[in-house]
Amino acid sequence: MASTGTRPPLGGPQDLFYAEGTTRGFPRIVRGEGVRVFDDAGRDLIDAASGTFVANLGQANERVLEAMHEQGRRLTFSYVKNTRHDANLGLTERLARLAGPGFERVHLSCDGSEAVEMAVKLLRQRAVALGQPERTRLISLMPSYHGATLGAIALNGDLDAEAVYGPLVQFSEKIPAPLTYRAASPEAAARASADALRETIERVGGERVLALVVEPVGGQSTGANVPHRLFFEEARRLCDAHGIGLVYDEVLCAVRTGSFLASQHEPLPAPDLVALAKGIGAGYAPIGAVLASAALVDDLAGRTGFNLTHTYNANPIACAAGIAVLDEVVERDLTGAATRVGAHLRAGLERLAERSPLVGDVRGRGLLLGLEVVRDRATAEPFGPEVDPADVLRLHGVEHGVLLYARRQNRGRFGDWVVIAPPLVISEDDCDELVERLGRTLDAAAAELHG
Ligand code: PMP
Repeated sequence: MASTGTRPPLGGPQDLFYAEGTTRGFPRIVRGEGVRVFDDAGRDLIDAASGTFVANLGQANERVLEAMHEQGRRLTFSYVKNTRHDANLGLTERLARLAGPGFERVHLSCDGSEAVEMAVKLLRQRAVALGQPERTRLISLMPSYHGATLGAIALNGDLDAEAVYGPLVQFSEKIPAPLTYRAASPEAAARASADALRETIERVGGERVLALVVEPVGGQSTGANVPHRLFFEEARRLCDAHGIGLVYDEVLCAVRTGSFLASQHEPLPAPDLVALAKGIGAGYAPIGAVLASAALVDDLAGRTGFNLTHTYNANPIACAAGIAVLDEVVERDLTGAATRVGAHLRAGLERLAERSPLVGDVRGRGLLLGLEVVRDRATAEPFGPEVDPADVLRLHGVEHGVLLYARRQNRGRFGDWVVIAPPLVISEDDCDELVERLGRTLDAAAAELHG
């Protein structure tokens, strides 16, 4: 094994890839049960972020495990470029049905980054097939997150990543995300972002822009920011006017906010493509998808086709997991649960916010909620680059029985937050327990940060 120097090799050689300090205090998880995981010190931790917003059914769902096992025994692998199989058919049909009209076609991927990239590549293939090779520019939000492949990194609203990877790939144009906290109003934030979008399209040239990629409800990169719908209405109008593809990245928010697609909620104007991932595999199998209309895909198929695939796309065991996950979501009405239980959890978080000096805002939708963590509630002053308050909360969380996820982007330039998004199967009693543990976590963190 590689030398670990003075650092304990908690996760073995993999730990050495992460910057010193960033794996500090990680619990070593030995098993999971429902919404809880247990570490080797015997602590039970409520998984407040579903791992990374993925474990929607919690741990060890028998139906999903059984479906994967059964599928593997019948057919373990078959390749998407020379075969089709029942699991592939079953999953894509379910996804198209849940997404509804306008999303009759489904291309499977292995994860979220791949799904986002696939959406961009599909639009690029179409642009070239339509005789528009000059469409090469992308637009996305600052801050935002779309993944970790080079193509997805190029979309991320992350200033530090741009400094490292900018010389390798063409980064997207960034417009300010319609962040509601610290804005005069959600409408004002949406209007400012839409104005920036219009100016960017004018500056770059509408005929050169391939796609706008946005999250309908934000995830970790904005702390569950819910933009005002005005932004999406204006974005749709501008995209239509210039022939630009509108892509909704629902990798994180789908299934969690009370409807299958977060963009079905109000509903928002329909995009051209939707990228999905986390909630489909729910942590049981790596799986993602791009949803598109029959009109778009069939027209392209008649010209050049899309023709790109990865070895594990439509893997039978992953598809079987996805089918079982979606059947659980539908039969147990977990999107309804996200609304009902999410309202209960939100009320608990709002009670915490009233008494904790650290919480400046409670936001989000369904079971995708965010707490903005501030130095001063009266002025909304953030902690700034030197202190990562979400990481302080994460460390105290482990001591108080709550597993938080804290990945800081842009060194807190746009603020700091923790996203509270437990598995959709969480009960109201477990929500109460989570709020109670979070309260103790906030108290301990406030004593450290303000003390
Ligand atoms: N888009 C969003 C909104 C995400 O939150 C993530 C993952 N956190 C991704 C894309 C990338 O997904 P993956 O990690 O599965 O590649």
